[in-house]
Amino acid sequence: MPEQDDRVKELERARERCLLQIGRLREQMRADIGRGVSGDEDSADAAADIYERTRVISLIASQETKLRALDHAIAAVRAGTYGICEMCGQPIPEERLMVVPETTLCVRCASRMEQGMRQDRHRDQDTERKRGQRRIDDD
Ligand SMILES: [Zn+2]
Repeated sequence: MPEQDDRVKELERARERCLLQIGRLREQMRADIGRGVSGDEDSADAAADIYERTRVISLIASQETKLRALDHAIAAVRAGTYGICEMCGQPIPEERLMVVPETTLCVRCASRMEQGMRQDRHRDQDTERKRGQRRIDDD
């Protein structure tokens, strides 16, 4: 199916860009660390350096997440399930695939999952609070 081949090629190109970006960021991180060792910086510079390093590390992490998603999407194309939401089985609109080609969820399921993750976090905080409350009551 030529359409499928095009899709894989497109995703693989995105994957290449992702890998390049990670390589560049890692190089930048190494250069930053090398610069830090030379010493004689004042503390403002050191703080800026730490901020920059943290930023680079989180950029690498998000590129790595994207890379995994792209691998997953490529596998989905090969399995013939690309463009179909993994949660509800409904087709994902082409416009969404253009914007986020690595997605395997429709907008509704993606936002529901995000909400679910937020709710889980709230629930955890809630149980933590209740547990703390009980401890106080017991005393
Ligand atoms: Zn869905």
